[in-house]
Amino acid sequence: MKHFDYNDLAVPGVRELKPYTPGKPTSELEREYGVRDSIKLASNENPLGASPMAIEAIRSELDELWLYPDANGYFLKQALAEHHDVDPACITLGNGSNDVLVFLAQVFLRPGLEAVFSQYCFAVYPIATQMVGATARVAPALPRDHVMPLGHDLRALYERIGPDTRLVFVANPNNPTGTWLDGARLEDFVASLPPQVICVVDEAYTEYAESDRLGDASTWLARFPNLVVTRTFSKAYGLAGLRVGYALSNPGIADLLNRVRPAFNVNSLALTAARAALADQAFIDRSREVNSRGMNQLTTGLEALGAKVIPSAANFILAEFDRSGAELNERLLRAGVIVRPVANYGLENHLRITIGTTEQNQRVLSALAAGLGS
Ligand SMILES: *Cc1c(COP(=O)(O)O)cnc(C)c1O
Repeated sequence: MKHFDYNDLAVPGVRELKPYTPGKPTSELEREYGVRDSIKLASNENPLGASPMAIEAIRSELDELWLYPDANGYFLKQALAEHHDVDPACITLGNGSNDVLVFLAQVFLRPGLEAVFSQYCFAVYPIATQMVGATARVAPALPRDHVMPLGHDLRALYERIGPDTRLVFVANPNNPTGTWLDGARLEDFVASLPPQVICVVDEAYTEYAESDRLGDASTWLARFPNLVVTRTFSKAYGLAGLRVGYALSNPGIADLLNRVRPAFNVNSLALTAARAALADQAFIDRSREVNSRGMNQLTTGLEALGAKVIPSAANFILAEFDRSGAELNERLLRAGVIVRPVANYGLENHLRITIGTTEQNQRVLSALAAGLGS
């Protein structure tokens, strides 16, 4: 058969698309490097695992695996509606919140329209924007000497908004930086937007935030019809492998998002586990405590190694070193420690390290000390 370049057939947005770079699973590291007992602090997973209640709930669901899941996620939506004090019609369930971020782009963007986000933002925002052929308008991040170095600059974001802007993505706290926005300032920002500009406030890490200053954008929904808040069960709730997240918005936007949502996008185990996990807020409290201790341990340890630590309200730390993150990462991999190099975000000398258990944190610090020493 004659050679045919299918790349030419791909829609323009997809042709140039660079796929998301995920954290390496430990099994892959062990295969490739011949190491054992490796640890992964690369994908901001909960080191405590999942709530035992969520795991127990799944067991009772196993006999039903041959049935399609409830396409409307009735019980999970009821629980979420109660948790957030909103109507179930405000909820869109996703196969992870990544799913709902893509729905937002599919519903509100197309070639000629624009999405605004910050320089060091979650990689899915530019991917979703490009996928549908829309234009990304990237606001420069706050400078390195700011109290929130590399964080979102609300004024710069506002300045990128034009007549063709339909979506603004803001993560609070942000990934990969861990930086956060003052809730009152973010609320003023949402209030300042024209009605055709939808603000997506991504609160994937909000359960970890210890300070009330970040606010809770889900409580602003009644006042802002152009606000969408996304949440996930992948991080503090410890259910990353099941893939479940959601968007909260006014019912009109939720209706649009649900039109593009594949009917059975959230599987039956995920629906059941998420509901049980939501009911176990004591697990979230424990997770926050372990994270807080680990944050202190890692911050102190990293600073002692001469790294510059960026303030974080999440379950990971972005640290800057005096050398290439890729090189340091290679040494960590050989020591069986997986963290996240962030050169793909334009952060050459940085590593993003998920906060683990005390032992895991100690292991990454020791491996870094050895890696930096040679
Ligand atoms: C991890 C993460 C998500 C959630 O991804 P899921 O698809 O829900 O697993 C969303 N936004 C940000 C900023 C994240 O870091």
